[in-house]
Amino acid sequence: MTRKLVTVLGATGSIGVNTLDVLARHADAYTVFALTGHSRMQALYEQCLAHHPRYAVVADAAQAQALQARLQDAGLTTRVRHGEAALAEVAADERVDVVMAAIVGAAGLVPTLAAAQAGKRVLLANKEALVMSGALFMDAVRVSGAELLPIDSEHNAIFQCLPADYQRGMAATGVRRILLTASGGPFREMPLEQLSRVTPEQACAHPNWSMGQKISIDSASLMNKGLELIEACWLFAARPEQVEVVVHPQSVIHSLVDYVDGSVLAQLGNPDMRTPIAHALAWPQRIDSGVSALDLLATGRLEFEAPDLQRFPCLRLARHAAEAGGTACAMLNAANEVAVAAFLQRRIGFTDIPVIIEQVMNCLPSAQVIDLEHIMHADQQARQSAFDWLAARA
Ligand code: NDP
Ligand code: MG
Repeated sequence: MTRKLVTVLGATGSIGVNTLDVLARHADAYTVFALTGHSRMQALYEQCLAHHPRYAVVADAAQAQALQARLQDAGLTTRVRHGEAALAEVAADERVDVVMAAIVGAAGLVPTLAAAQAGKRVLLANKEALVMSGALFMDAVRVSGAELLPIDSEHNAIFQCLPADYQRGMAATGVRRILLTASGGPFREMPLEQLSRVTPEQACAHPNWSMGQKISIDSASLMNKGLELIEACWLFAARPEQVEVVVHPQSVIHSLVDYVDGSVLAQLGNPDMRTPIAHALAWPQRIDSGVSALDLLATGRLEFEAPDLQRFPCLRLARHAAEAGGTACAMLNAANEVAVAAFLQRRIGFTDIPVIIEQVMNCLPSAQVIDLEHIMHADQQARQSAFDWLAARA
């Protein structure tokens, strides 16, 4: 069997590490082509020692020189490159079969799009890329014949529950609704008046998942579910009103699909990202992921409730952006990235996050998306508007 060549964008992050764990279990089937990192250079060095990639990509020339010297000393032939163009090149390289898109935020858009344009099997964790570029991204997938497989656990679950011809549309395939589950995050039951005082550490302590900082904050504010609502609309050709968010605190059901005959299909499993990673890597086959079998008796209860939009305005804002279309989702994402970074730096409170986003969305009208430049312009405008809000408050 010829081994598939895999590029892992964002290898040093939470999804990247889980991806390498799954790949290492199947060294007979997959070879690592390229690994990329941004700030965690020691982690990237150790990953190179373990996986012997042909390329490693880092942010700048100084990092590249230092890492190259260390790898040479260790006897490795890995070539270290740097910068955004190099990220896109290792994603689109003709030798590559599979690209794990696991850079966080807007920084992942260009390399993820490059992988889609080059017709790769794209394992999409970087939801922000799809939220920003929606139609453009899906067009690139169609034109190139890329295989787009969702890594987000909810979307991977929905993909598994949808019929094989789901791309014909929900009505044509008898799908009534998509039920997107949300854990509700760490603040689901906290008294409302305490929310403004929560710390980044509290927000990052997710009850069920261990993830990178940005998605942890998004999960606490429910912006993650808002981004996922937009992501689901693009991936599964759904309208926003066809996607319903259901809070399910145990995170055992990863999402559900409701059919017109009353059947509801769900995908269940332990909350461990290696399950969707292994699923998307091997699809339509199944491979071992290292995740233990679900123990339903130990789980005991599965609970459901409606999301509280007063407590979590970010979900409402994301739904509005999904309905507005055009550049609205790129602006929502950009304003959120600025707000989350400011919260992590303790410059604003947790409840300021939706305030900034709403302010930005109210100031900037949504425009039609023609090309990538339009999206980047909307992203920059929204970032500037959010920075202005922060400066005015300082
Ligand atoms: P992490 O913060 O753990 O990792 C992010 C990765 O992106 C790291 O490799 C980081 O490098 C790299 N990176 C950060 N900034 C840049 C940049 N400007 N240019 C290039 N690379 C950069 O995040 P996660 O792994 O948790 O999440 C990654 C993506 O997957 C996100 O879009 C998230 O929404 C999505 N996702 C994550 C899930 C999870 O369980 N973690 C679940 C579902 C989706 P370095 O660390 O070296 O700085
Ligand atoms: Mg998710």
